[in-house]
Amino acid sequence: MTGFAYHRPSSLDDALAALAEPGSLPIGGGSDLLAGIEEGHAAPTRVVELERIPELATITTQADGGVRIGGGVGIALLAEAPELSAFPVLRAACTAVGSPALRAMGTLGGNLAQRQRCWYFRSRVGCFKHGGTGCAAVDGEHVYHAIFASGTCHAAHPSDPAVALLVLDARVEVRSVRGTRMLDIEALYEGAAENVRSETVLAGDEVIVAVHLDAAARDGAQHWEKLTQRGAFDLALVSCAGVRRTDGSVRIALGGVAAGPWRAPHSVEEDIASGGLDEESIEALAARATYDATPLAGNAYKVQMAEAAIRRAAKTIAN
Ligand SMILES: Cc1cc2nc3c(=O)[nH]c(=O)nc-3n(C[C@H](O)[C@H](O)[C@H](O)COP(=O)(O)OP(=O)(O)OC[C@H]3O[C@@H](n4cnc5c(N)ncnc54)[C@H](O)[C@@H]3O)c2cc1C
Repeated sequence: MTGFAYHRPSSLDDALAALAEPGSLPIGGGSDLLAGIEEGHAAPTRVVELERIPELATITTQADGGVRIGGGVGIALLAEAPELSAFPVLRAACTAVGSPALRAMGTLGGNLAQRQRCWYFRSRVGCFKHGGTGCAAVDGEHVYHAIFASGTCHAAHPSDPAVALLVLDARVEVRSVRGTRMLDIEALYEGAAENVRSETVLAGDEVIVAVHLDAAARDGAQHWEKLTQRGAFDLALVSCAGVRRTDGSVRIALGGVAAGPWRAPHSVEEDIASGGLDEESIEALAARATYDATPLAGNAYKVQMAEAAIRRAAKTIAN
């Protein structure tokens, strides 16, 4: 493990100025970054602490019923936050993260920006993100990998909260010394299967200062499930989030199946929103949702899991 300096900033501006220095990286709870430094796929000369910065540490309900969640808020706090009681899908996704210790350490920003948990990537073997030519998982061990491949990397993104945030149409507020930009959560992961340095579009000096939830998803029917190999402390084989918004429209997303959170085709969501579905039509919709899955030899089981999860989500939120 290489040495690095630790900077505890006095303010958000101080943190952003420190991150503008080459070699600096933000650190939330450190549960992923410190492992990455040990594994050799992150080599900061300085880490900049975000957790104690007031703007990043609060959850605020807005006048219109939307919610702003600071990027440094802990996953364990989110799982129980009263401000999120109208967004049970997000609280459930946070409750599903890893173990109590990981939820106590991890922050929302760190969870969204965490690296893939693929063993080839983590052990720096046969992975293009470490200078290799392709993805060793394709001809190797890929039972936990993606079934919707959109690029060279076949790892499945590990974040549970990202899947819930996708159906909540969350927007991510990103800041650096150059200014602030707002990203749809989907855009945060654009190119995740091709990017080498990170699975997000964030530059090294950019910080997720907050995630914004739209009031239009408040209190509507919501669905969350996470299918795992073990009963606890496990990554999703497949997870599924669903929401019916106040305008009646529906969002369905899956985790554990792609390089980022994966959204169901809009036509499937529209048909679920139209309601009046019987068993047969729900089955057909779930099959349509996965029509372009390209599983590898050892993970076709995930297609069946994904369809079953979508069927259950559709039943919860259809009517
Ligand atoms: C054994 C194990 C099991 C796990 N299981 C799950 C699981 O089931 N579900 C799940 O969702 N996760 C799971 N995780 C991931 C775990 O929840 C993450 O490690 C954690 O959420 C990361 O949060 P952190 O604050 O500790 O991030 P850090 O380790 O501090 O940072 C992670 C990355 O994000 C960057 N970063 C940190 N904060 C910000 C910010 N505000 N803005 C921009 N970049 C930032 C860092 O530079 C680093 O690159 C698991 C991890 C382990 C080790």
